Amino acid sequence: MAQPAPTLEQERLCALDRYDVLDTPREEAFDRITRLVRRILDVPIATVTFLDAHRQWFKSRQGLDDGETARELAFCDHAIRAEAPLIVPDTMLDERFADSSMVTGGPRIRFYAGVPLRTSDGHNIGTLCAIDTRPREFTSDQVGILTDLAQMAMGELELRRLATTDCLTGAMSRRSFREEGGRAVSLALRHGHNLICLALDIDYFKHVNDTHGHGVGDRVLAGTAALCQELIRKSDLLGRIGGEEFAILLPHTPRKPALQVAEKLRAAIANQRFEVGNVTVRITASLGVAALDRSLPDIDALLGRADSALYAAKAAGRNQVIAYQPAEPEKATVRRRVLKAGRISFNNRQSSIDCTVRSLSETGAGLDVFTSAGVPKTFELVIDSDAFLRPCQVVVQTEKHVEVKFV
Ligand code: GH3
Ligand code: MG
Ligand code: MG
Repeated sequence: MAQPAPTLEQERLCALDRYDVLDTPREEAFDRITRLVRRILDVPIATVTFLDAHRQWFKSRQGLDDGETARELAFCDHAIRAEAPLIVPDTMLDERFADSSMVTGGPRIRFYAGVPLRTSDGHNIGTLCAIDTRPREFTSDQVGILTDLAQMAMGELELRRLATTDCLTGAMSRRSFREEGGRAVSLALRHGHNLICLALDIDYFKHVNDTHGHGVGDRVLAGTAALCQELIRKSDLLGRIGGEEFAILLPHTPRKPALQVAEKLRAAIANQRFEVGNVTVRITASLGVAALDRSLPDIDALLGRADSALYAAKAAGRNQVIAYQPAEPEKATVRRRVLKAGRISFNNRQSSIDCTVRSLSETGAGLDVFTSAGVPKTFELVIDSDAFLRPCQVVVQTEKHVEVKFV
């Protein structure tokens, strides 16, 4: 399939990033919509799908097992390129899809209807899909219903974007954390005050969900956020900036006491107990600590530093606090959180793996991949929208994430 123009795709990804929906858990509001699609349109499969740079990810799905697939397999990737709904009455008669493993195997998709989820500024960030395992047609009424339901899904997303607090944990939403945090950064820079940022990520949280269910996962998240809130000052900011990832800003705090706060949080989290029936669930968290300095222009740069210390804490075995250490002190680097489409290119540029670039600095990058299994130790990172190409070496690798340094 022809690739979208890199700059347009980059704008689309920025739009998607504003909603901050990727990798969030199932929510009733979206499940209600896919259940309606199934019932009203009499299809076995319905999804609310978002297209990341390297994968399609389902916010809600009925009748499908996997929570995400590689982007190459995504019918939705075709649907988001059009203004009008994409209707494929029989996938086997359509040369774009007849050979797809989603048709020949897996869910055996024979009929597909997808309506783009379009932002107010015109970017198609995902789709609402109705899928059948037998060929069929949709009347214009049925297409109309799917279109109305897609608008409802977009409305739900808008509501979440505008919320200043995260409803599960009571922490600030990522958006409002960045807004208020941005003001704290400007103030501290102007007056030369100390400002510390902590990045906190629960360790092996996927395991909690997988073993005890999402409900328990949610309780753990809410409990951990409440604990953090209790242990920091009223004037500190706590934001939920990812699924199980929090950031904390400590204004007017020098480095050493800030490290003590981080250690206090780590220990308190490790001591928490959640009773589930007759088992006790315990978790740990890893923390990265970074101090604001004049080389950092904004909150994103500060968060990026705390994040890279956090990855070092993960790599060092988790359940620990690590302070940001510039690799070469005289060349302290600014790492920004980004969302860009990238390619991992190797084997003399014969092979490539799509990735989503999540952070970027002069000296390295953080990449999300569908699976890191096939990623070689060294490769070239290509970001088409920026005409960017750098040889890289992997420094940290988890199942779906790779941290690299440029060589
Ligand atoms: P690591 O130690 O490397 O951080 O491992 P991890 O399992 O914590 O990290 P990973 O990023 O693989 O998994 C995070 C999981 O958090 C996946 C996602 O489903 C889950 N999650 C994200 N948001 C929520 C939420 O609001 N509720 C629940 N229950 N789970 C969530
Ligand atoms: Mg985690
Ligand atoms: Mg995480």
